[in-house]
Amino acid sequence: MSAHLPVEINHVTRQGVVRVTWDDGHVGDYPREYLRGYCPCALCQGHEAEIKFIAGPTAELAEITAVGNYAVQFRWEDGHSTGIYTFDYLRSLCPCPQCEALRSRPVAKEG
Ligand SMILES: [Zn+2]
Ligand SMILES: [Zn+2]
Repeated sequence: MSAHLPVEINHVTRQGVVRVTWDDGHVGDYPREYLRGYCPCALCQGHEAEIKFIAGPTAELAEITAVGNYAVQFRWEDGHSTGIYTFDYLRSLCPCPQCEALRSRPVAKEG
């Protein structure tokens, strides 16, 4: 189902971002608060159908783990690790201006 696959996912600690390089050459820098805020797990999102940004604790990213070949899991230093970010989801969150402009659904916007 994935339209794109990440070829590289790096935690750039100096900048506080997770840099995802995709198989089409696209690169997105995801600030860690942004990733945490969009954590798709039920604990963070409750039972709302639509995933939205939830401002939460600012936690350092401790670990990035591959989940099968379809998703990644982020473990945060406050122990939270239940969010599974599928590649499709991750790509849909890409915060770069190019993707922002392309995004027709208000997935990453408030209001
Ligand atoms: Zn969560
Ligand atoms: Zn992008």
